[in-house]
Formats: sequence, structure tokens, C-alpha cells
Amino acid sequence: MTSVQIAETVEELQSYLGKARADNLTIGLVPTMGFLHEGHASLINASTQQSDLTVVSIYVNPLQFNLNEDFDVYPRDVSSDLTLCKDHGVNIVFMPSEDEMRPFLSEKPPNLGEIVEIYEGESRPTHFQGVATVVKALFEIVEGNYAFFGEKDFQQLVIVKQLVKDHSLSIKVVGCPTVRETDGLAKSSRNVYLNQNEREQSVVIYQSLMAGSEAISNGETSIQNIELLIREVIETSPLANIDYVGIVDPLTFGTPDNITNEVRLLVACNFGQTRLIDNFSAKREVVSNQ
Ligand code: AMP
Repeated sequence: MTSVQIAETVEELQSYLGKARADNLTIGLVPTMGFLHEGHASLINASTQQSDLTVVSIYVNPLQFNLNEDFDVYPRDVSSDLTLCKDHGVNIVFMPSEDEMRPFLSEKPPNLGEIVEIYEGESRPTHFQGVATVVKALFEIVEGNYAFFGEKDFQQLVIVKQLVKDHSLSIKVVGCPTVRETDGLAKSSRNVYLNQNEREQSVVIYQSLMAGSEAISNGETSIQNIELLIREVIETSPLANIDYVGIVDPLTFGTPDNITNEVRLLVACNFGQTRLIDNFSAKREVVSNQ
């Protein structure tokens, strides 16, 4: 177990990072909203493997919540977060207050085009502008070499990569695979909101994505058929309330006419008050005659 430094101000953070920079150490950043679980731990592990020094930021970003959302009740457990960070070899935990972050947030959100307005962006207006504003500030404060993001939030990952490209930031964004519960539900801080029935039925999200990707792998090329299949599997759960099902190009987020190349299957679904999202990559299996 390593000792972990806690920085609550940018000044404290810079004093720790200054020493690392002077020693030419590479810096990996893992941005989070806390209530850390094994999904976050996998990002931390990727960072400690790839970078000399790992910074985890814990900041429940008010800008990425819409007014009717769960900002006030978003789960928090700093002591367990610090234990997870220590156990996984994090060097610095950056836990700024809103007041501390405010001067670093640009007034005008980065312009990211249409991708911030579809799927998650349509259901959660201003969400991605809020994410991008804070992520850009964190990138500028930390000036790291790498930043680690989960594929769990696939649209966010694509948007952050675009942010880096559009602003010619020197950080490299690394996407990490989704970590799941044993029944397939993607780990999420929000899973604690699910009651027992909702938790049991939430597995339909994973099952629907499996069904969709298997059908594509077996040669189904129709967008409509795949969407229908995914919806049918989710609708086997009486508690599931679908927000959207998407079948998109993984780079542009446009919907192809037919499935000929790799696509991303996207699902957002409510169980009671809890909104869950998940996604899968899918492509046709190439059958070789040799
Ligand atoms: P959050 O604290 O929910 O904002 O998530 C912080 C980071 O952890 C984001 O890059 C997420 O995509 C990532 N993450 C959340 N859940 C998972 C998971 N189950 N597997 C992998 N990464 C995840």
C-alpha cells in the first residue's frame, strides 16, 4: 500500500505535481465523481500501469446535472474512496470544492457540435457541456500525460476525445472496458439506488445488448430489427422504462443505413427513479473458409 497525498486546493495539487514534473515523471489522471467502485479501480489500475504518478480527482460536478436530477443526493463516501485509492496505488487524490474549481471553469462551454445534443445529450440537456467544462479545467490544472475514462459512458469518452482534439490539448485519452457485476449489470455509483426487484430486473439491459450483438455477429444487418430485438428483451422486465436505444457509428455517432461495419449499441433505461446506461460494441463475425 502506498501513501496517498490529499489535495483540496489547486495550489496544494501543484506543489505535489511540481516535484513530479521536476523528476520528469509521467502523470495519469482519473476524473471521477467519487463513490468509487471496481469500475473506477480498473481505470486507476490502467493509470498506475501506464503512468509514473496517478492523480484521482473526486468532484461531484454540479454543471453536469440537470435541475431535476440527483445532484443533492448523489452518493458520497470519502473515507471508503480514500481506502480504495490507497489500496490501488494512487499517489494524489484531488478533492476540490466548488469554490476552488470556479475560477478554472471557462464561462463559455466548449463547442462540441451535434454529438452533445443526441442520445444522452437529448435526455440530459447541458449535461455534456457541464462535463466538458470541468474535464477541460481538470486537464489544464493537472497537465497530465494520460487521462483514463470508462467505455461505460461511451458517448462521454468520444466527446472527451473530441474536446482534446479540438483544443489541441496534449493529454492522451485512454478508454477502458466496462466492469460488470457477475450477472452483467455495469457497475455504477447509481446502482445503490435500485431496490431488490429493480436490481434483479436491471440485468435485462445487459441481456438486450448481448442479444443485439449476437444477432449482428451472426449476420443481421437491419438497424430496425436490432433495435426491435433490444427493445423486446428489455420489455420482458415490467419495471424497465426505456429512454432510448441507439445503434451508432462508434466514431461519429451517426446511425448507418445498414450494419456493415462495427457499431455501438446504446441503451438508457429507467428502473423506478434510477436511470441506467450501458453499451456494447458489435460487428459481423468474419467467417474464414481456411
Ligand atoms: P463517474 O464517477 O460515474 O463520473 O465515473 C468516473 C469514470 O469512471 C468515468 O470515466 C466512467 O466512465 C468510469 N466508470 C464508471 N463506471 C464504470 C464501469 N463500470 N467500468 C469502467 N469504467 C467505469
